[in-house]
Amino acid sequence: MRKRIFLKLLFLIVVVVGVSTAALDLLVRRSWEASLLSQLHQGLQDKVQMFAARADREAGTIPFQQLVSEIGKAARARATIIDRSGKVLADSEAQAEAMENHATRPEFIAAFSGKTGSDTRTSHTLGIQFSYVAAPTSFGAVRLAYPLSSIRADVRKVEKELLEASGIAFLAGLLVALIGAESISRRLRRMVVFAQEIADGKLSARLPESGSDEIAVLAMSLDKTARQLEKNFQNLEGSRQQLETLLNSMHDAVVAISPKQDIAWFNGAMNPLAAGRIAVGIPLIRAVRDPDLLQVVAEVLEKRIVKSATLYSVSPGRIFGMTSAPLPDGGVVCVLRDSTEIARVERTRRDFIANVSHELRTPLTSLLGYTETLMDESADSKAREFLEIIRRNAQRMSRLTEDLLTLARVESGEDRLQPAAVSANELLRDAQTSFSELAKAKGLTIEISQTPDAMVFADRDAIHQVFANLIDNALKYASGTKKIEIGATDRFGSLEFYVRDFGQGIPSEHLPRLFERFYRVDKARSREAGGTGLGLAIVKHIVLNHGGQAGVTSELGHGSVFWFRIPLAVVDLEIAEATANRK
Ligand code: ADP
Repeated sequence: MRKRIFLKLLFLIVVVVGVSTAALDLLVRRSWEASLLSQLHQGLQDKVQMFAARADREAGTIPFQQLVSEIGKAARARATIIDRSGKVLADSEAQAEAMENHATRPEFIAAFSGKTGSDTRTSHTLGIQFSYVAAPTSFGAVRLAYPLSSIRADVRKVEKELLEASGIAFLAGLLVALIGAESISRRLRRMVVFAQEIADGKLSARLPESGSDEIAVLAMSLDKTARQLEKNFQNLEGSRQQLETLLNSMHDAVVAISPKQDIAWFNGAMNPLAAGRIAVGIPLIRAVRDPDLLQVVAEVLEKRIVKSATLYSVSPGRIFGMTSAPLPDGGVVCVLRDSTEIARVERTRRDFIANVSHELRTPLTSLLGYTETLMDESADSKAREFLEIIRRNAQRMSRLTEDLLTLARVESGEDRLQPAAVSANELLRDAQTSFSELAKAKGLTIEISQTPDAMVFADRDAIHQVFANLIDNALKYASGTKKIEIGATDRFGSLEFYVRDFGQGIPSEHLPRLFERFYRVDKARSREAGGTGLGLAIVKHIVLNHGGQAGVTSELGHGSVFWFRIPLAVVDLEIAEATANRK
């Protein structure tokens, strides 16, 4: 397996070296053969020229037979002399008289025409292959014949030498290939081992490599990547530890839950809140038993929204405010804050206000009663004027204590709602009937502009109180106009009731704070109109107790629309009931 790269490389290099050696061998051999033959041929031609010159020179001085023997020996070839008729005069290797006429031999035909002629064929006389070369003389022609077998022997000898050289070259190439392939495959193997270490998470692995070839450049890049990865990982780990320390030092309990509703992470503050043992990986339901928490987690997991809830049964006698938010991995994180102390302080504050208001009620009633009696009996106009001021202020204080008491009750949930399915029409008609006289006195009419055929799950008296406060405000702040419109429209599972007036409207910067207690746009005007600054706060709490929402839109110079949403009876009966019961 590990040697695979080496074997492949080696095989490739062997093939390349083998093919190139063979090709080189073939080419060299061919060209060498061609050059050898042409050399031989040229040599023969030179020799035959000399032979012809000597035959011309020595004709008649020595016998031709002697001449051919000498020449044949010297040239290591067969020498032949013929006369013009083609008759063989002498031959170094055969009986001239026994030889047939040679005038038709191609080399002699050429020689008779005055040129050097040549031919290669099997000799009739000797029966072996010769390379013939003939040259003209004054009396005929001479010829040298070189046996091809000796040429072939020469060629074979050189071929053998060449083959040996190729073999040595091949072996040398193989050795170099072995060393090269081993070196490359060793470097590649080191890279494979390195990559496996990184894949196994061992980011401290390093790949030392120097050089400038592609493998070295690749190795250096991989090494740099590993260093960078390790550095990033260390930074990440550092941040994670910091975050963990931070979360562990918090008073709030934090728990992360996986998409499968198992505990994914929790901080130290979560330990005392767990029903049993809490550990990473165990199902949430085994660690926390609070049904509200489980329901909120399930909802956040499903809808991927941020949700808050108040938990009463995480720890006996304690109240927790919880916020749950979806995590990017599909899970949920919950932050639980112990709000028992805040709730206690809040309750004390509410009780105090309620008690003070309650205690003020009786003296104020008697103050009002006696003031009115005194007014009836007093004839002095100055005294009556002062008494009227006392009466107005006592009335104001009385309204204030009443509103404070109402607010304390709706805030604390002391006023348990009695919700039931009520027709929206009936609620609107009730409001219209109850306040039309009051409106008429101020020159206004109350019109019902939209009446959907729907049922809401609501406490009739509480909703009446909401309409009372909103219509009272409309009458106070839109005096001088003609009408007030009330109505309701459908809003995704809720019904949105509204009270619209066509008065001066409210500047937009005041709108976000309008429902806070004692928040007034114009204090003097509110006081003059008999306002306490608590009407809208009461509205907000009643609507919240119904599991709804309240709000306002307003346009300066055109009027305001105060609205509140209540769950529809058919859709959210159970939820509304559950919410209302808890209050
Ligand atoms: P108040 O007793 O002062 O009316 P509320 O809580 O009912 O107290 O209202 C708070 C403030 O909101 C008022 O003081 C007034 O400035 C403003 N407001 C309420 N209703 C209207 C309205 N219909 N038109 C203009 N201003 C309004």
